[in-house]
Amino acid sequence: MPVLRSAAALVVAAASAALLAGGCSSPPALGESGVGVLTDVLTDPTATAVVRVAPVAGSGVEGRVTFAQFGSVVVVRAQLFGLTPGRAYGLHVHERGDCRSADGTAAGGHFNPAGAPHGRPGRGAHHAGDLPNLHAEGEGAVNYAYETSAISITGGPTSVIGRSIIVSRDADDHRTQPDGNSGPPLACGFIRLS
Ligand SMILES: [Zn+2]
Repeated sequence: MPVLRSAAALVVAAASAALLAGGCSSPPALGESGVGVLTDVLTDPTATAVVRVAPVAGSGVEGRVTFAQFGSVVVVRAQLFGLTPGRAYGLHVHERGDCRSADGTAAGGHFNPAGAPHGRPGRGAHHAGDLPNLHAEGEGAVNYAYETSAISITGGPTSVIGRSIIVSRDADDHRTQPDGNSGPPLACGFIRLS
């Protein structure tokens, strides 16, 4: 199928350009949610971390968050259940891989290796662990995907391995310090390589 093959080649070229443009200091401009051309084409990640996310303090919220490394880009996907339809929730990588406390304090603050202020992921200064909000749909489930080069699962200062991923009760306003006013944890998981 020559037509399909040449279309795929074009998309690969675009994805490579995006990776090159990303560099070390300026991550590629990526959308708030949704996965773009990159992972539609590069289907073989160099590493993955599949994290089971368990309810905190009987919230009933649980599911799975996966991290997949493609070059310098990590794709974060979340499938969660038990949320309230129509509501938005915060999602962050926290500094410590400890999900034991009901108020989330054992997990520490948002993962912040660069000493940046809390902010909006993909735009301006923000914690590496700041991720776009989750939006619960019809049955209180969420299907989420986000591409970022602010974190890694293959080592280096931005590695999130050994840390935790937390779904919080309220949406992140991506402004208020130090946590975007996103409230206590509803669900938490320890991030380890699969
Ligand atoms: Zn933050």
